[in-house]
Amino acid sequence: MPAREFSISRKALCALWNRQFRYGNVGFFELPIPGRAPAKIKNQVTRSVTGRPQNDLLRKLGAQDFELLAPHLQSVELAASHILHHAGDDVAAVHFPCGPTFVSFAVPVEDDREVESLLVGREGAIGIPAGRGPSLAYSRIVVKVGGTLARLPLRALEQAQQRSAGLQELFARYAACQFAQLLQTAACNAAHSIEQRAAKWIIAAREHIGGDEIPLTHEQLAGMLGVSRSYASRVIQTFKARRILATRRGAILILDAAALESSACACNDTVKRHFREVLGRAASAE
Ligand SMILES: [Zn+2]
Repeated sequence: MPAREFSISRKALCALWNRQFRYGNVGFFELPIPGRAPAKIKNQVTRSVTGRPQNDLLRKLGAQDFELLAPHLQSVELAASHILHHAGDDVAAVHFPCGPTFVSFAVPVEDDREVESLLVGREGAIGIPAGRGPSLAYSRIVVKVGGTLARLPLRALEQAQQRSAGLQELFARYAACQFAQLLQTAACNAAHSIEQRAAKWIIAAREHIGGDEIPLTHEQLAGMLGVSRSYASRVIQTFKARRILATRRGAILILDAAALESSACACNDTVKRHFREVLGRAASAE
């Protein structure tokens, strides 16, 4: 399914922003419906955190820092399985998953297999550079649960960072968090069982989606865990026998979230705690 996306000029964007169209759950720049007057907004909330894209990093920014980025942000709607970057691509834009949208980083290994190394949802961003200028994608980056992402040209981010130490600090802290997340994933892959990792992944997906139905096939789960499809199916069967999970066509249904959490390793919680501690101290945070 091809990606649908739109972009609007800076002038039109500012007009929309200033007229304060009501922000829905799906997008953040709600375009006016032809023939219908824009919704009236009672309060002057343009600069409020709640009127921003549903991404934790963008919502952490102080008002002035957010205004440096806002004219350059575009909303893109990407379907599940859309490839954001192939390995080796120049990454010229930062993407901020919004709401339940999340993407995964899949690293190719031998035998045409790929192993997932990172999940990024509304807590983070894809394409934050470690240095200056475009960087090369190391892995394939694929949309797992489709929806809205905020796209920001890397050049616009760099220019804004030159004007704001707070922006520099927040994104440097996020890059450090993402590195910690990778370290934890490496440790998890080495130390924890397939069952623990499967439970961890499904719990993480549940947190991103905000629901108990996870759009995930056995084959996709196998790919993320770096095991054969039959092994992944056996893991799912074990959870089904314990009435923790059920399966539907193309999806996994969580029946007992508490039991699933107790089956998972603690890696997700460790990473989340680190994010809270490191990003909570960022100078740009409100
Ligand atoms: Zn683990």
